[in-house]
Amino acid sequence: MKVFLVSLGLLLLLLFLFSLIGKNSKYSDFGINFKRVFCPKCNTKQPIVRKPANQRQALFGGYTCKKCDTEMDKFGTEIKE
Ligand SMILES: [Zn+2]
Repeated sequence: MKVFLVSLGLLLLLLFLFSLIGKNSKYSDFGINFKRVFCPKCNTKQPIVRKPANQRQALFGGYTCKKCDTEMDKFGTEIKE
């Protein structure tokens, strides 16, 4: 039981640390963004539950705006191909 609690604590700590990674960090791909994301172009709120549209989105997160098809990362920064 104690082991379980310790690993749970470690997991929470890790989640917390990852959520501290900002979008300007070089590790931002591994960051976790708990805030709602808005489209950089039309300001549409992006859904919490998302369907990855490509491999990058599946790996690192990110959204494709339903309204204007803009691709953004999980922080809401526009991605230009
Ligand atoms: Zn949009």
